[in-house]
Amino acid sequence: VQKSLVRDGQIKNALVALSEALDSRAILTGEAITERYSRDWSGDYVGEPAAVLRPSDTSEVAAAVRICRDACLPIIPQGGHTGLVGGATPDAAGQIVLSLERMNRIRALDSLSMTMVVEAGCILQTAKEAALAQGCLFPLTLGAQGSCQIGGNVATNAGGLNVLRYGMMRNLVLGLEAVLADGRVFSDLRALRKNNTGLDLKQLFIGTEGTLGIVTAAALRLYPQPRWVETLWLSAESITGIMALYDHCRREAGELLSAFELITAPCLELALELDPNSPLPGDVARFPAHALIEIASSGGPDLRPWVEELVASMFENGLAQTGLMAHSTAQAAALWRIREIMVEAQQRRGLHLRTDISVPISAIPLFAARIDEVLAQALPGVKVLTYGHVGDGNLHINALPPAHLQGSAFRPWLLPLTRKINEVVDAFGGSISAEHGIGITKRTALEERLAPVDRELMHAMKATLDPDGLLSPGRILVV
Ligand SMILES: Cc1cc2nc3c(=O)[nH]c(=O)nc-3n(C[C@H](O)[C@H](O)[C@H](O)COP(=O)(O)OP(=O)(O)OC[C@H]3O[C@@H](n4cnc5c(N)ncnc54)[C@H](O)[C@@H]3O)c2cc1C
Repeated sequence: VQKSLVRDGQIKNALVALSEALDSRAILTGEAITERYSRDWSGDYVGEPAAVLRPSDTSEVAAAVRICRDACLPIIPQGGHTGLVGGATPDAAGQIVLSLERMNRIRALDSLSMTMVVEAGCILQTAKEAALAQGCLFPLTLGAQGSCQIGGNVATNAGGLNVLRYGMMRNLVLGLEAVLADGRVFSDLRALRKNNTGLDLKQLFIGTEGTLGIVTAAALRLYPQPRWVETLWLSAESITGIMALYDHCRREAGELLSAFELITAPCLELALELDPNSPLPGDVARFPAHALIEIASSGGPDLRPWVEELVASMFENGLAQTGLMAHSTAQAAALWRIREIMVEAQQRRGLHLRTDISVPISAIPLFAARIDEVLAQALPGVKVLTYGHVGDGNLHINALPPAHLQGSAFRPWLLPLTRKINEVVDAFGGSISAEHGIGITKRTALEERLAPVDRELMHAMKATLDPDGLLSPGRILVV
C-alpha cells in the first residue's frame, strides 16, 4: 500500500510538471484515456496507463522524458498499436504511455535525392502517399499500413511484402532523430547514402522496440515509382512446387521480382469464405499451395509481353498448374485483397496461434512438413495455416483450434504449441522472430536462446543508454 501511495504521489507531482512543460492537448488522464491506449491490435494484452502523453514536437518529448525520469516513472512509447508482440501495451498500472500520434508531419521531401524526412507519428500510408505525389515510392508495404506509424516501423524494423526487393525498414532508414532516456536528443537526419564515420549510432534505435530511445523522426530512402507492375497468382501441387516457381521467377525476373508470397490451401479456404467473389479461376481451390507474385519495373519497356512469356513457360514446363495474371489494376488489387483478408479471417475466428519465424529459404518445404507433423501430433484436429514471405524465408505458422477447444479453451495450448514450433525452428537453424520483434510475447523464448556474449552485450547497451531502466521496461530483455 505504501509503495502504491508513493507511486501515486510521484505521478501527481510529475503531472503538475508535465502540464507546465507540454501544451494542453498533450496530457490525458482518468476517463480521457480511451481503450486505444490500453491495448493493441492483437488484444493479447490490456494495460492501464497512469497517464497518456501526446507531445507535439521533439522538444516536448525530451521535456516529458526528463520529467518522467526525475519521477522514476517508466515510459512506454506508442505508435499505431498494430504491433503483434505486446511491446506497446502498458502494464497493469503506473506506466506512462508516450504516444507519438500528434507528431505526424512530413518535414521534407527531396525528389531528386529520393529522400524524405518524416516524423515518427506519421501513418505509413500517409508517408507512402506523400512520396507517390512526387513520383517516388516508399516501398515498405504491410497489411497494417493504414494504422501503423513510421516510428513504430523503425522501432520494430518492420518487414512486409516487398522485403525481397527493397529490404526491411533498417535498409530504408538513412537518418534518425531520437530522444534518449535522460532527455538528450540524438539527431542525425542527414539523408546521406554514404557516410562511413565510425559507429552507425542510428542502428541502436532500429528494431530495439523503444528500449533504447524514443524515435521522433526519420530520414527515409525513396525509390522511383514503379511504372509497370504485373501481378500473378500461380498454384502448385505442393510447397516444394511453389519453391520451384520461386527459384524460376528469382532467376528470370532478377531484381524485378518485388513480392513472392506463399498461401497454403487452408489459408485460401478461410479467405474465400469472406470473399467469395474473388477473381480466381474455379479450379484454384483444388491445389494445396499458391504463390502471389509481383514483378515490377520503374522504367524501360512495357513488362507485360515478357511476363506473359514467363508465365507461359512456367505452365509449359509444369511448374504452375493453374492461376491468373491480373489484367487490370483492380484485378491485381483483388488478388492482394485475398492475402489481406486471409489475416482478417483468422482474427475473426477468435483466439488462435500466431507465429513469425524464419528459416533458410531452401529449407522451407521440409520445415513446413515437419511443422505439420509436430502440430498434428501435439494436438490432433488443429488447423495449421502456413503462409508468408517465402522470398525472405519468413513464414507465419498460425493455427486455429480444433472444434472442442474454441475460444479461451485454446489459451493453455498457445505456449506449448509455440514451444514445439520454436524447437523445429531451432533444428532448422532459424529465428523465432523474423519481422514482428520480441516485445513481451517472445522475451522468454529469446532469453532461452541468447548466447552468453549476446546477452552481456545487450544488457550492457541497455545499462549505458537507459541506466534506470525506464524505457519500455521488460520488453525484449527479461529483467
Ligand atoms: C494486419 C497486420 C499485418 C501486419 N503485417 C506485418 C508485416 O507484414 N510485416 C511486419 O513487419 N509487421 C507486420 N505487422 C506488425 C506491425 O504492423 C508492425 O510491427 C509495425 O511496424 C508496428 O508499428 P506501430 O506504429 O503500430 O507500432 P506499435 O504497435 O504502436 O508499437 C510497436 C513497438 O514499437 C515501439 N514504438 C512505437 N513507436 C515508437 C517510437 N516512436 N519510438 C520508439 N519506440 C516506438 C512500441 O513501444 C512497441 O514496442 C502487422 C500487423 C497487423 C495488425
